Amino acid sequence: MKTIGIIGGMSYHSTVEYYMGINNKVAEALGGHASAQIILDSINFQPIRDMQVAEAWDEAGQTLAGHGRRLEAAGADAVAIGTNLMHKVAPAVEAAIGVPLIHIADAVAAQASRAGIERLGVMGTSWVMRENFYTDRLASHGITGVKASDQDADLVDGIIWSELTRGVVTESARQKLVGVIERLGQAGAEAVLLGCTELDLSLSSDVSPLPVIDSTTSHIALLAEFVLG
Ligand code: GLU
Repeated sequence: MKTIGIIGGMSYHSTVEYYMGINNKVAEALGGHASAQIILDSINFQPIRDMQVAEAWDEAGQTLAGHGRRLEAAGADAVAIGTNLMHKVAPAVEAAIGVPLIHIADAVAAQASRAGIERLGVMGTSWVMRENFYTDRLASHGITGVKASDQDADLVDGIIWSELTRGVVTESARQKLVGVIERLGQAGAEAVLLGCTELDLSLSSDVSPLPVIDSTTSHIALLAEFVLG
């Protein structure tokens, strides 16, 4: 079995899903008392949040690179960053480590391809919804990211930071998020990407008007595959 190193804590409400999800998949695959070899580096989110707000991406990249190196030194055979947004600095982490970085957008693209989806409506933090670092990675796998309006990007970003990353789930926010999914469908999306690791706290295929590709579930599946070799 391989060992996966996870840079988590961004937020811890989704990191716990990674821990449970990878372990469940390994237990299911191997039976008995098997569980996953995981090294979890769960970090204090506040300094990272401050760097995001200040757009201090070089500093954020160096910080996460340090955590990546620490995981490698502790014996991780690969490293994962347990958030979508912080893949904005994935190149800095990748450059700092000698083991692979298992990228969340690669995991999403694999799930979308398996489901036969080519046009994926993007929901996530403002940077994921507005910038191209994430959708370019999807495009390298033949998946087109359908972008929401600026107004909807602000709406989703606001709900993520005021509620979901604090572990708060409300029905009123869920209704607003469903509205964004409807508009992404009108803009040509065949399915919606929950491109923030906390969006699945509020949304699922039961409430979504479009089929759902969840970044957290997709990343967990790819990481469990890696662990199982
Ligand atoms: N967990 C969120 C994401 O997947 C936002 C938090 C962050 O990355 O900083 O993008």
